Amino acid sequence: MADKTTHFGFKQVDWEEKQRRVAGVFDSVADKYDVMNDLMSLGIHRLWKRFAVEQSGARPGQSILDLAGGTGDLAARLSRIVGPEGRVVIGDINASMLNNGRERLLDQGIAGNLCFVQANAESLPFPDSSFDCITMAFGLRNVTDKQKALDSMFQILKPGGRVLVLEFSKPVAPGLKSIYDLYSFKVLPLMGRVIAGDEESYRYLAESIRMHPDQDTLKSMMERAGFEDCDYFNLCGGIVALHRGFRF
Ligand code: SAM
Repeated sequence: MADKTTHFGFKQVDWEEKQRRVAGVFDSVADKYDVMNDLMSLGIHRLWKRFAVEQSGARPGQSILDLAGGTGDLAARLSRIVGPEGRVVIGDINASMLNNGRERLLDQGIAGNLCFVQANAESLPFPDSSFDCITMAFGLRNVTDKQKALDSMFQILKPGGRVLVLEFSKPVAPGLKSIYDLYSFKVLPLMGRVIAGDEESYRYLAESIRMHPDQDTLKSMMERAGFEDCDYFNLCGGIVALHRGFRF
């Protein structure tokens, strides 16, 4: 493992170095994360997340893990659905993102059935068969060993449960790629510099999206982890895809 390398955006880095660099990105963007999400996506990320929650099949009383939950957008929605008899765990590796999420959700009066756990998706600290549903929005791209994370998610999902992975993906709509490239590599870093004072993190965002497995590759990885009936929905022409799989 000593000289094993992986990608951090377009850069090749040591396997262990990636996690440190990803931590640096989210420590840096945590305070401006929510406002940047709205600006960069023109608010459309809310629709993607709403669709993910609709596909979760969440019901009152269920136990749900929102992995890489960050500032808690999905968790807030899920918490209302599972109600006081249920629980939503926000799991994230980054303390700055979790702290921002906790403050934000407390301000919104959403907290009773929520808890926050600092955890690496690659080795989740929960007993087998703990959750009815696991969601992961815009998180898998940042994980060093994505297959290990999917394996770990499978392990802690209850039989009959489902996993949902919402992530940037490969545009499939004709003509979209060139406009999308221009936006990602020119406009995003500029917005990062002007609004968040951090051009590099938003350059990483664009690069990490390009390095992420495409729709069919991710579906195969989910199947390798053991998930069944896997499928995906392309959103906004494939800029984002929602992958779904079940444990039977
Ligand atoms: N899910 C939230 C959303 O959709 O707004 C936050 C997404 S944010 C782009 C990515 C999150 O993934 C960050 O909060 C980051 O700390 C988390 N993350 C990165 N690597 C992780 C890992 N190995 N395990 C758990 N969380 C991780």
